[in-house]
Amino acid sequence: MFLRPLQYVTLTSNRSVHHSCRVLVIGGGAGGCAVAAKLTKVLKKNEVIILDPSEKHFYQPLFTLIGGGIYGLEKSFKFQKDVLPEDAKWIQDKVQQLSPKSNEVITAGGDTIKYDFLLLALGLETNYEKIPGLLEALQTDSGVCSNYSDKYVEKTFKVMKNFDSGNAIFTYPDSPVKCPGAPQKICYLTEDYLRKNGKRDKANIIYNSSLPVIFGVKKYADALWKVVEGRNIEVNLRTNLIEVKPDKKEAIFENLDKPGEKKVYEFSMLHVTPPMSTPAVLRTNKELSNSTGFADVNPDSLQHVNFPNVFAIGDCSSSPNSKTAAAAAAQSVVVFKNLMDEMNGRKVTKKYDGYASCPLVTGYNKCILAEFDYKLQPLETFPIDQDKEMISMYLMKKLFMPPLYWNLMMKGYWNGPAVMRKILHLGFK
Ligand SMILES: Cc1cc2nc3c(=O)[nH]c(=O)nc-3n(C[C@H](O)[C@H](O)[C@H](O)COP(=O)(O)OP(=O)(O)OC[C@H]3O[C@@H](n4cnc5c(N)ncnc54)[C@H](O)[C@@H]3O)c2cc1C
Repeated sequence: MFLRPLQYVTLTSNRSVHHSCRVLVIGGGAGGCAVAAKLTKVLKKNEVIILDPSEKHFYQPLFTLIGGGIYGLEKSFKFQKDVLPEDAKWIQDKVQQLSPKSNEVITAGGDTIKYDFLLLALGLETNYEKIPGLLEALQTDSGVCSNYSDKYVEKTFKVMKNFDSGNAIFTYPDSPVKCPGAPQKICYLTEDYLRKNGKRDKANIIYNSSLPVIFGVKKYADALWKVVEGRNIEVNLRTNLIEVKPDKKEAIFENLDKPGEKKVYEFSMLHVTPPMSTPAVLRTNKELSNSTGFADVNPDSLQHVNFPNVFAIGDCSSSPNSKTAAAAAAQSVVVFKNLMDEMNGRKVTKKYDGYASCPLVTGYNKCILAEFDYKLQPLETFPIDQDKEMISMYLMKKLFMPPLYWNLMMKGYWNGPAVMRKILHLGFK
Protein backbone atom coordinates (compact mmCIF):
# COMPACT_ATOMS: atom_id res chain seq x y z
CA MET A 1 0.00 0.00 0.00
CA PHE A 2 2.82 2.33 0.93
CA LEU A 3 5.33 1.35 -1.74
CA ARG A 4 3.42 2.30 -4.84
CA PRO A 5 3.32 6.09 -4.39
CA LEU A 6 6.92 6.09 -3.17
CA GLN A 7 8.08 4.15 -6.21
CA TYR A 8 6.20 6.55 -8.47
CA VAL A 9 7.81 9.54 -6.80
CA THR A 10 11.26 8.02 -7.23
CA LEU A 11 10.72 7.33 -10.90
CA THR A 12 9.15 10.69 -11.69
CA SER A 13 11.67 12.71 -9.74
CA ASN A 14 14.47 10.91 -11.63
CA ARG A 15 13.28 11.89 -15.08
CA SER A 16 9.65 11.46 -16.02
CA VAL A 17 9.89 12.82 -19.54
CA HIS A 18 6.84 12.49 -21.79
CA HIS A 19 7.37 11.60 -25.42
CA SER A 20 4.92 10.97 -28.19
CA CYS A 21 5.31 9.57 -31.67
CA ARG A 22 3.51 8.15 -34.66
CA VAL A 23 5.29 4.76 -34.43
CA LEU A 24 7.10 3.35 -31.43
CA VAL A 25 9.51 0.51 -32.21
CA ILE A 26 10.51 -1.45 -29.12
CA GLY A 27 13.79 -3.23 -29.80
CA GLY A 28 16.26 -1.93 -32.38
CA GLY A 29 17.75 -5.30 -33.35
CA ALA A 30 17.46 -7.06 -36.71
CA GLY A 31 13.68 -6.74 -37.14
CA GLY A 32 13.05 -3.45 -35.34
CA CYS A 33 15.83 -1.56 -37.09
CA ALA A 34 14.89 -2.92 -40.54
CA VAL A 35 11.30 -1.70 -40.22
CA ALA A 36 12.27 1.61 -38.54
CA ALA A 37 14.59 2.32 -41.48
CA LYS A 38 11.71 1.80 -43.91
CA LEU A 39 9.33 3.94 -41.84
CA THR A 40 11.72 6.90 -41.59
CA LYS A 41 11.79 7.09 -45.39
CA VAL A 42 8.06 7.92 -45.46
CA LEU A 43 7.38 9.58 -42.10
CA LYS A 44 8.73 12.88 -40.79
CA LYS A 45 11.86 13.22 -38.66
CA ASN A 46 11.34 11.88 -35.12
CA GLU A 47 7.87 10.52 -35.89
CA VAL A 48 9.49 7.14 -35.23
CA ILE A 49 10.89 6.47 -31.76
CA ILE A 50 13.11 3.43 -31.16
CA LEU A 51 13.34 2.24 -27.57
CA ASP A 52 16.36 0.02 -26.95
CA PRO A 53 18.89 -0.05 -24.10
CA SER A 54 21.80 -1.65 -25.96
CA GLU A 55 24.82 0.41 -26.85
CA LYS A 56 26.00 -2.24 -29.29
CA HIS A 57 24.06 -3.80 -32.14
CA PHE A 58 25.24 -7.37 -32.74
CA TYR A 59 24.93 -9.23 -36.03
CA GLN A 60 24.29 -12.46 -34.12
CA PRO A 61 24.52 -14.86 -37.12
CA LEU A 62 28.27 -14.23 -37.01
CA PHE A 63 28.48 -15.78 -33.53
CA THR A 64 28.76 -19.27 -35.06
CA LEU A 65 31.87 -18.23 -36.97
CA ILE A 66 33.30 -16.40 -33.94
CA GLY A 67 32.82 -19.55 -31.86
CA GLY A 68 34.68 -21.44 -34.57
CA GLY A 69 37.61 -18.99 -34.36
CA ILE A 70 37.03 -17.60 -37.87
CA TYR A 71 36.34 -14.03 -36.73
CA GLY A 72 36.87 -12.03 -33.52
CA LEU A 73 33.91 -10.55 -31.63
CA GLU A 74 34.71 -7.04 -32.90
CA LYS A 75 33.58 -8.09 -36.40
CA SER A 76 30.05 -8.82 -35.15
CA PHE A 77 28.89 -5.46 -33.86
CA LYS A 78 28.54 -1.76 -34.56
CA PHE A 79 27.48 0.92 -32.15
CA GLN A 80 23.72 1.31 -32.08
CA LYS A 81 24.01 5.07 -32.66
CA ASP A 82 25.66 4.31 -36.02
CA VAL A 83 23.13 1.65 -37.03
CA LEU A 84 19.70 3.06 -36.13
CA PRO A 85 18.17 5.36 -38.77
CA GLU A 86 19.17 9.01 -38.38
CA ASP A 87 15.66 10.33 -38.74
CA ALA A 88 14.32 8.22 -35.88
CA LYS A 89 14.67 9.26 -32.25
CA TRP A 90 16.52 6.68 -30.18
CA ILE A 91 15.65 6.47 -26.50
CA GLN A 92 18.34 4.35 -24.87
CA ASP A 93 16.21 2.68 -22.23
CA LYS A 94 14.23 -0.50 -21.58
CA VAL A 95 10.49 -0.85 -21.75
CA GLN A 96 9.16 -1.62 -18.29
CA GLN A 97 5.42 -1.56 -18.81
CA LEU A 98 3.24 -1.94 -21.88
CA SER A 99 -0.30 -0.49 -21.83
CA PRO A 100 -1.87 -1.21 -25.21
CA LYS A 101 -5.32 0.04 -24.20
CA SER A 102 -3.98 3.53 -23.53
CA ASN A 103 -1.35 3.37 -26.32
CA GLU A 104 1.56 4.08 -24.04
CA VAL A 105 4.59 2.49 -22.47
CA ILE A 106 6.67 3.33 -19.44
CA THR A 107 10.42 2.91 -19.57
CA ALA A 108 12.72 1.66 -16.81
CA GLY A 109 13.97 5.23 -16.43
CA GLY A 110 10.41 6.47 -15.81
CA ASP A 111 9.65 8.09 -19.17
CA THR A 112 6.21 7.75 -20.71
CA ILE A 113 5.96 7.23 -24.46
CA LYS A 114 2.61 7.69 -26.19
CA TYR A 115 2.24 6.18 -29.64
CA ASP A 116 -0.26 5.81 -32.44
CA PHE A 117 1.30 2.55 -33.67
CA LEU A 118 3.51 0.08 -31.90
CA LEU A 119 6.02 -2.45 -33.27
CA LEU A 120 7.17 -5.13 -30.84
CA ALA A 121 10.68 -6.28 -31.80
CA LEU A 122 12.13 -7.37 -28.48
CA GLY A 123 13.77 -10.60 -29.61
CA LEU A 124 14.40 -13.57 -27.33
CA GLU A 125 16.43 -13.49 -24.14
CA THR A 126 18.80 -16.22 -23.04
CA ASN A 127 18.09 -17.81 -19.65
CA TYR A 128 21.41 -19.39 -18.64
CA GLU A 129 20.37 -19.17 -14.97
CA LYS A 130 17.62 -21.74 -15.55
CA ILE A 131 20.15 -24.58 -15.65
CA PRO A 132 21.68 -25.09 -12.20
CA GLY A 133 25.46 -24.84 -12.25
CA LEU A 134 25.66 -23.45 -15.78
CA LEU A 135 26.50 -19.81 -15.04
CA GLU A 136 29.19 -20.87 -12.59
CA ALA A 137 30.54 -23.36 -15.15
CA LEU A 138 30.65 -20.73 -17.92
CA GLN A 139 32.63 -18.45 -15.64
CA THR A 140 34.98 -20.97 -14.04
CA ASP A 141 35.16 -24.18 -16.08
CA SER A 142 37.66 -24.11 -18.91
CA GLY A 143 35.60 -26.64 -20.89
CA VAL A 144 32.16 -24.98 -20.84
CA CYS A 145 31.17 -22.46 -23.52
CA SER A 146 28.23 -21.01 -25.42
CA ASN A 147 27.92 -19.20 -28.75
CA TYR A 148 24.62 -17.65 -27.66
CA SER A 149 26.05 -14.70 -25.75
CA ASP A 150 28.56 -12.00 -26.62
CA LYS A 151 30.01 -12.64 -23.13
CA TYR A 152 30.92 -16.27 -23.82
CA VAL A 153 31.12 -16.71 -27.59
CA GLU A 154 34.87 -16.10 -27.82
CA LYS A 155 35.44 -18.77 -25.17
CA THR A 156 34.19 -21.48 -27.55
CA PHE A 157 37.29 -21.44 -29.75
CA LYS A 158 39.56 -21.45 -26.69
CA VAL A 159 37.78 -24.59 -25.48
CA MET A 160 38.17 -26.18 -28.92
CA LYS A 161 41.87 -25.38 -29.01
CA ASN A 162 42.47 -26.72 -25.50
CA PHE A 163 40.56 -29.95 -26.09
CA ASP A 164 42.71 -33.03 -25.62
CA SER A 165 40.43 -36.04 -25.35
CA GLY A 166 37.07 -37.20 -24.03
CA ASN A 167 33.45 -36.18 -24.63
CA ALA A 168 32.65 -32.99 -26.56
CA ILE A 169 28.94 -32.42 -25.94
CA PHE A 170 26.61 -29.96 -27.69
CA THR A 171 23.11 -29.21 -26.38
CA TYR A 172 19.74 -27.95 -27.66
CA PRO A 173 17.29 -26.81 -24.94
CA ASP A 174 13.64 -27.60 -24.30
CA SER A 175 12.42 -24.14 -25.37
CA PRO A 176 12.07 -22.09 -28.54
CA VAL A 177 15.48 -20.88 -29.71
CA LYS A 178 16.79 -18.33 -32.15
CA CYS A 179 18.44 -19.97 -35.14
CA PRO A 180 17.54 -23.59 -34.39
CA GLY A 181 20.44 -24.72 -36.61
CA ALA A 182 23.14 -22.93 -34.59
CA PRO A 183 23.35 -25.51 -31.76
CA GLN A 184 24.53 -28.14 -34.25
CA LYS A 185 26.61 -25.87 -36.52
CA ILE A 186 29.20 -25.45 -33.75
CA CYS A 187 29.22 -29.22 -33.27
CA TYR A 188 30.23 -29.69 -36.93
CA LEU A 189 32.85 -26.95 -36.74
CA THR A 190 34.38 -28.55 -33.63
CA GLU A 191 34.43 -31.98 -35.28
CA ASP A 192 36.14 -30.51 -38.35
CA TYR A 193 38.62 -28.56 -36.21
CA LEU A 194 39.60 -31.62 -34.15
CA ARG A 195 39.96 -33.70 -37.33
CA LYS A 196 42.21 -31.08 -38.94
CA ASN A 197 44.31 -30.90 -35.78
CA GLY A 198 44.82 -34.64 -35.33
CA LYS A 199 42.64 -35.01 -32.24
CA ARG A 200 39.48 -36.43 -33.78
CA ASP A 201 40.16 -40.05 -32.79
CA LYS A 202 40.46 -39.00 -29.14
CA ALA A 203 37.04 -37.31 -29.11
CA ASN A 204 33.48 -38.59 -28.72
CA ILE A 205 31.34 -35.94 -30.33
CA ILE A 206 27.80 -35.97 -28.97
CA TYR A 207 24.81 -33.80 -29.96
CA ASN A 208 22.05 -34.00 -27.31
CA SER A 209 18.88 -32.30 -28.49
CA SER A 210 15.49 -31.85 -26.84
CA LEU A 211 13.82 -31.99 -30.24
CA PRO A 212 12.35 -35.20 -31.69
CA VAL A 213 14.12 -34.54 -35.04
CA ILE A 214 17.58 -33.39 -36.07
CA PHE A 215 16.03 -30.57 -38.13
CA GLY A 216 12.41 -29.56 -38.75
CA VAL A 217 12.49 -29.77 -42.57
CA LYS A 218 12.74 -33.32 -43.89
CA LYS A 219 14.87 -32.55 -46.93
CA TYR A 220 17.62 -30.98 -44.78
CA ALA A 221 17.16 -33.45 -41.91
CA ASP A 222 17.92 -36.30 -44.34
CA ALA A 223 21.08 -34.47 -45.45
CA LEU A 224 22.16 -33.81 -41.85
CA TRP A 225 21.71 -37.46 -40.84
CA LYS A 226 24.16 -38.33 -43.62
CA VAL A 227 26.60 -35.73 -42.25
CA VAL A 228 26.46 -37.03 -38.65
CA GLU A 229 26.68 -40.66 -39.73
CA GLY A 230 29.59 -39.98 -42.08
CA ARG A 231 31.50 -38.15 -39.36
CA ASN A 232 30.68 -40.47 -36.47
CA ILE A 233 28.77 -37.92 -34.41
CA GLU A 234 26.43 -39.43 -31.81
CA VAL A 235 22.97 -37.82 -31.83
CA ASN A 236 20.56 -38.29 -28.93
CA LEU A 237 17.11 -36.79 -29.44
CA ARG A 238 14.66 -35.79 -26.68
CA THR A 239 17.69 -35.40 -24.41
CA ASN A 240 17.63 -32.18 -22.41
CA LEU A 241 20.39 -30.63 -20.29
CA ILE A 242 19.12 -29.99 -16.73
CA GLU A 243 22.27 -29.44 -14.65
CA VAL A 244 26.00 -28.85 -14.93
CA LYS A 245 28.44 -29.87 -12.19
CA PRO A 246 31.67 -28.03 -12.99
CA ASP A 247 33.51 -29.50 -9.99
CA LYS A 248 32.98 -33.04 -11.35
CA LYS A 249 32.94 -32.05 -15.05
CA GLU A 250 29.53 -33.68 -15.37
CA ALA A 251 26.46 -32.70 -17.37
CA ILE A 252 23.10 -34.17 -16.40
CA PHE A 253 20.43 -34.75 -19.01
CA GLU A 254 16.80 -35.85 -18.74
CA ASN A 255 14.98 -38.11 -21.18
CA LEU A 256 11.97 -36.04 -22.24
CA ASP A 257 10.08 -39.16 -23.30
CA LYS A 258 10.62 -40.99 -20.01
CA PRO A 259 9.95 -38.59 -17.12
CA GLY A 260 12.38 -39.10 -14.25
CA GLU A 261 15.02 -40.87 -16.36
CA LYS A 262 18.36 -39.07 -16.14
CA LYS A 263 21.78 -39.67 -17.66
CA VAL A 264 25.08 -38.27 -16.42
CA TYR A 265 27.80 -37.51 -18.98
CA GLU A 266 31.38 -36.61 -18.18
CA PHE A 267 32.64 -33.91 -20.49
CA SER A 268 35.88 -32.31 -21.60
CA MET A 269 33.98 -29.80 -23.74
CA LEU A 270 30.38 -28.71 -23.22
CA HIS A 271 28.75 -26.22 -25.60
CA VAL A 272 25.41 -25.10 -24.22
CA THR A 273 22.52 -23.52 -26.06
CA PRO A 274 20.53 -22.06 -23.15
CA PRO A 275 16.74 -22.06 -22.71
CA MET A 276 15.20 -18.88 -24.14
CA SER A 277 12.02 -16.87 -23.75
CA THR A 278 10.60 -13.53 -24.74
CA PRO A 279 11.51 -10.75 -22.26
CA ALA A 280 9.33 -10.78 -19.11
CA VAL A 281 7.78 -7.39 -19.90
CA LEU A 282 6.11 -8.95 -22.94
CA ARG A 283 5.73 -12.52 -21.67
CA THR A 284 3.77 -11.44 -18.60
CA ASN A 285 1.59 -8.92 -20.42
CA LYS A 286 -1.62 -10.87 -20.93
CA GLU A 287 -3.11 -8.28 -23.30
CA LEU A 288 -0.28 -8.56 -25.79
CA SER A 289 1.15 -12.07 -25.44
CA ASN A 290 -0.23 -15.54 -26.04
CA SER A 291 -0.03 -18.48 -23.62
CA THR A 292 3.63 -19.10 -24.52
CA GLY A 293 4.63 -15.46 -23.99
CA PHE A 294 5.00 -14.44 -27.65
CA ALA A 295 3.37 -11.31 -29.13
CA ASP A 296 0.02 -12.63 -30.30
CA VAL A 297 -0.15 -11.76 -33.99
CA ASN A 298 -1.93 -13.02 -37.06
CA PRO A 299 0.68 -15.26 -38.78
CA ASP A 300 -0.13 -13.83 -42.23
CA SER A 301 -0.34 -10.11 -41.53
CA LEU A 302 1.84 -9.98 -38.36
CA GLN A 303 -0.78 -7.61 -36.93
CA HIS A 304 -1.82 -8.12 -33.31
CA VAL A 305 -5.00 -10.19 -32.94
CA ASN A 306 -6.65 -7.70 -30.55
CA PHE A 307 -4.92 -4.36 -31.13
CA PRO A 308 -4.89 -3.38 -34.82
CA ASN A 309 -2.35 -0.62 -34.16
CA VAL A 310 0.18 -3.15 -32.83
CA PHE A 311 2.49 -5.34 -34.97
CA ALA A 312 5.34 -7.68 -34.10
CA ILE A 313 8.44 -8.80 -35.96
CA GLY A 314 11.28 -11.24 -35.43
CA ASP A 315 11.94 -13.62 -32.57
CA CYS A 316 9.29 -12.24 -30.16
CA SER A 317 6.42 -12.75 -32.60
CA SER A 318 4.00 -15.68 -32.28
CA SER A 319 4.20 -16.39 -36.04
CA PRO A 320 5.25 -20.07 -36.15
CA ASN A 321 8.35 -19.66 -38.30
CA SER A 322 11.93 -20.54 -37.52
CA LYS A 323 13.36 -17.59 -35.56
CA THR A 324 16.13 -16.15 -37.72
CA ALA A 325 17.33 -12.77 -38.99
CA ALA A 326 16.49 -14.06 -42.46
CA ALA A 327 12.86 -14.48 -41.34
CA ALA A 328 12.88 -10.95 -39.89
CA ALA A 329 14.07 -9.61 -43.27
CA ALA A 330 11.17 -11.29 -45.09
CA GLN A 331 8.74 -10.08 -42.40
CA SER A 332 10.00 -6.49 -42.54
CA VAL A 333 8.32 -5.67 -45.84
CA VAL A 334 5.04 -7.29 -44.69
CA VAL A 335 5.00 -5.36 -41.41
CA PHE A 336 5.93 -2.10 -43.14
CA LYS A 337 3.28 -2.41 -45.84
CA ASN A 338 0.53 -3.54 -43.45
CA LEU A 339 1.37 -0.91 -40.86
CA MET A 340 1.24 1.84 -43.51
CA ASP A 341 -2.07 0.48 -44.80
CA GLU A 342 -3.53 0.44 -41.29
CA MET A 343 -2.24 3.98 -40.72
CA ASN A 344 -3.86 5.21 -43.91
CA GLY A 345 -7.19 3.47 -43.35
CA ARG A 346 -6.62 0.90 -46.08
CA LYS A 347 -7.24 -2.84 -45.90
CA VAL A 348 -4.31 -4.84 -44.57
CA THR A 349 -3.48 -7.38 -47.30
CA LYS A 350 0.19 -8.31 -47.42
CA LYS A 351 0.98 -11.85 -46.25
CA TYR A 352 4.10 -13.42 -44.80
CA ASP A 353 4.71 -16.96 -46.08
CA GLY A 354 6.83 -18.08 -43.11
CA TYR A 355 10.11 -17.83 -45.05
CA ALA A 356 13.18 -18.55 -42.95
CA SER A 357 16.66 -19.59 -43.88
CA CYS A 358 19.40 -21.28 -41.93
CA PRO A 359 22.91 -21.59 -43.34
CA LEU A 360 23.85 -24.93 -41.76
CA VAL A 361 27.62 -24.61 -41.54
CA THR A 362 28.93 -28.18 -41.51
CA GLY A 363 32.67 -27.44 -41.55
CA TYR A 364 35.29 -24.77 -42.20
CA ASN A 365 34.37 -24.54 -45.88
CA LYS A 366 31.04 -26.33 -46.08
CA CYS A 367 27.45 -25.25 -45.64
CA ILE A 368 23.95 -26.52 -46.46
CA LEU A 369 21.71 -23.51 -47.08
CA ALA A 370 18.29 -24.49 -45.69
CA GLU A 371 15.41 -22.25 -46.83
CA PHE A 372 11.80 -23.07 -46.11
CA ASP A 373 8.31 -21.75 -45.37
CA TYR A 374 5.52 -22.14 -42.78
CA LYS A 375 4.67 -25.59 -44.11
CA LEU A 376 8.31 -26.65 -43.59
CA GLN A 377 8.61 -27.06 -47.36
CA PRO A 378 11.88 -26.03 -49.02
CA LEU A 379 11.72 -22.55 -50.58
CA GLU A 380 15.13 -22.37 -52.18
CA THR A 381 16.63 -19.28 -53.78
CA PHE A 382 19.07 -20.99 -56.13
CA PRO A 383 18.06 -23.28 -59.02
CA ILE A 384 20.13 -26.14 -57.59
CA ASP A 385 19.42 -28.73 -54.91
CA GLN A 386 20.45 -26.95 -51.73
CA ASP A 387 20.62 -30.03 -49.51
CA LYS A 388 24.31 -30.51 -50.43
CA GLU A 389 27.32 -29.28 -48.46
CA MET A 390 28.74 -26.49 -50.61
CA ILE A 391 31.70 -24.16 -50.36
CA SER A 392 29.75 -21.46 -52.23
CA MET A 393 27.07 -21.35 -49.49
CA TYR A 394 29.80 -21.21 -46.84
CA LEU A 395 31.44 -18.23 -48.56
CA MET A 396 28.06 -16.56 -48.88
CA LYS A 397 27.46 -16.93 -45.12
CA LYS A 398 30.98 -15.76 -44.28
CA LEU A 399 31.55 -12.95 -46.77
CA PHE A 400 28.29 -11.89 -48.42
CA MET A 401 25.70 -11.94 -45.62
CA PRO A 402 27.35 -9.59 -43.09
CA PRO A 403 27.59 -6.62 -45.53
CA LEU A 404 24.10 -7.43 -46.80
CA TYR A 405 22.83 -7.14 -43.20
CA TRP A 406 24.60 -3.87 -42.38
CA ASN A 407 24.30 -2.08 -45.73
CA LEU A 408 20.93 -3.24 -47.00
CA MET A 409 18.75 -4.82 -44.28
CA MET A 410 19.59 -2.29 -41.56
CA LYS A 411 18.94 0.51 -44.02
CA GLY A 412 15.52 -0.83 -44.99
CA TYR A 413 16.47 -2.13 -48.44
CA TRP A 414 16.51 -5.92 -47.96
CA ASN A 415 13.27 -7.89 -47.84
CA GLY A 416 14.73 -11.37 -48.17
CA PRO A 417 15.50 -13.22 -51.40
CA ALA A 418 11.94 -13.56 -52.80
CA VAL A 419 12.63 -11.37 -55.86
CA MET A 420 15.99 -13.04 -56.52
CA ARG A 421 14.32 -16.46 -56.19
CA LYS A 422 11.73 -15.53 -58.81
CA ILE A 423 14.37 -14.30 -61.23
CA LEU A 424 16.63 -17.34 -60.74
CA HIS A 425 13.69 -19.70 -61.23
CA LEU A 426 12.51 -17.75 -64.29
CA GLY A 427 9.33 -16.70 -62.51
CA PHE A 428 8.25 -20.23 -61.58
CA LYS A 429 8.77 -19.98 -57.78
C1 LIG B 1 24.52 -18.08 -32.22
C2 LIG B 1 23.49 -17.51 -33.14
C3 LIG B 1 23.53 -17.83 -34.49
C4 LIG B 1 22.57 -17.33 -35.35
N1 LIG B 1 22.66 -17.64 -36.69
C5 LIG B 1 21.77 -17.11 -37.56
C6 LIG B 1 21.90 -17.34 -38.96
O1 LIG B 1 22.83 -18.00 -39.42
N2 LIG B 1 20.98 -16.79 -39.78
C7 LIG B 1 19.95 -16.03 -39.31
O2 LIG B 1 19.15 -15.54 -40.12
N3 LIG B 1 19.78 -15.81 -37.99
C8 LIG B 1 20.67 -16.31 -37.10
N4 LIG B 1 20.54 -16.05 -35.75
C9 LIG B 1 19.28 -15.49 -35.23
C10 LIG B 1 19.14 -13.98 -35.39
O3 LIG B 1 20.24 -13.31 -34.83
C11 LIG B 1 17.85 -13.54 -34.70
O4 LIG B 1 16.79 -14.34 -35.17
C12 LIG B 1 17.55 -12.09 -35.05
O5 LIG B 1 18.53 -11.25 -34.49
C13 LIG B 1 16.15 -11.71 -34.52
O6 LIG B 1 15.92 -10.36 -34.66
P1 LIG B 1 15.00 -9.60 -33.60
O7 LIG B 1 14.91 -8.20 -34.07
O8 LIG B 1 13.76 -10.35 -33.36
O9 LIG B 1 15.82 -9.71 -32.22
P2 LIG B 1 17.25 -9.12 -31.88
O10 LIG B 1 18.04 -8.88 -33.12
O11 LIG B 1 17.82 -10.02 -30.85
O12 LIG B 1 16.93 -7.68 -31.24
C14 LIG B 1 16.18 -7.53 -30.08
C15 LIG B 1 16.41 -6.12 -29.56
O13 LIG B 1 15.50 -5.88 -28.47
C16 LIG B 1 16.17 -5.15 -27.49
N5 LIG B 1 15.48 -5.34 -26.21
C17 LIG B 1 15.45 -6.45 -25.42
N6 LIG B 1 14.73 -6.22 -24.31
C18 LIG B 1 14.28 -4.95 -24.40
C19 LIG B 1 13.48 -4.12 -23.57
N7 LIG B 1 12.96 -4.56 -22.41
N8 LIG B 1 13.21 -2.85 -23.97
C20 LIG B 1 13.69 -2.39 -25.16
N9 LIG B 1 14.45 -3.12 -25.99
C21 LIG B 1 14.75 -4.39 -25.62
C22 LIG B 1 17.60 -5.72 -27.51
O14 LIG B 1 18.52 -4.79 -26.94
C23 LIG B 1 17.82 -5.93 -28.99
O15 LIG B 1 18.45 -4.82 -29.61
C24 LIG B 1 21.53 -16.49 -34.87
C25 LIG B 1 21.50 -16.13 -33.51
C26 LIG B 1 22.50 -16.62 -32.65
C27 LIG B 1 22.48 -16.19 -31.21
